[in-house]
Amino acid sequence: MTQTFHWNRSTAFSERVDRLELHGLHFQHINLCRRRAWMYLHRINFAQWNSRVASGIAHQVTHHKRDRSVVGLFGLAPDRLDWEQAIVFEHKGTGGAAGAVDRQVGFYAVMLSIATQREWRGQVQVLTSRRGREVLLDGPLLTGLWEDSIALEELIATPQVPAAPRIGLCASCSFASFCGHD
Ligand code: SF4
Repeated sequence: MTQTFHWNRSTAFSERVDRLELHGLHFQHINLCRRRAWMYLHRINFAQWNSRVASGIAHQVTHHKRDRSVVGLFGLAPDRLDWEQAIVFEHKGTGGAAGAVDRQVGFYAVMLSIATQREWRGQVQVLTSRRGREVLLDGPLLTGLWEDSIALEELIATPQVPAAPRIGLCASCSFASFCGHD
């Protein structure tokens, strides 16, 4: 039996998400790199030019069929849902960038919670280690998602590409050539 979901920011959060057309990856990117988030928000995508990403997309298209449980979820793209226990699953190849992944999964969980008024939780499944990690919609996560949505709105209104230091992610990022961090 899942609990009823109450969050005094539900209406304002979902209004911002709808108005800005935000989705889960925005919440992951804003926690990885502000420049990367800016690129996605402004629909600049170099992924097809990056051989690693291009082969990943091809693999995704041919091998990764999403579970039937997520059919019809407009705007949300988790890997699987357990409607009975209110759990949203996200599969990742590795366990990297856990904080950013938790925000992505947390976004799915909060949107499902707002829509159904039941409290959803996330489950990140790391395919290489076969380990799972639970993502609970607790106070810190809700505050983080709220602050992310504000940061994303500010980035949309920012006309210039924001400054970005070189980070570990740059080595595998499809924007690295553009950033000069390749
Ligand atoms: S290359 Fe590095 S700085 Fe540039 S968008 Fe990617 S992660 Fe951010």
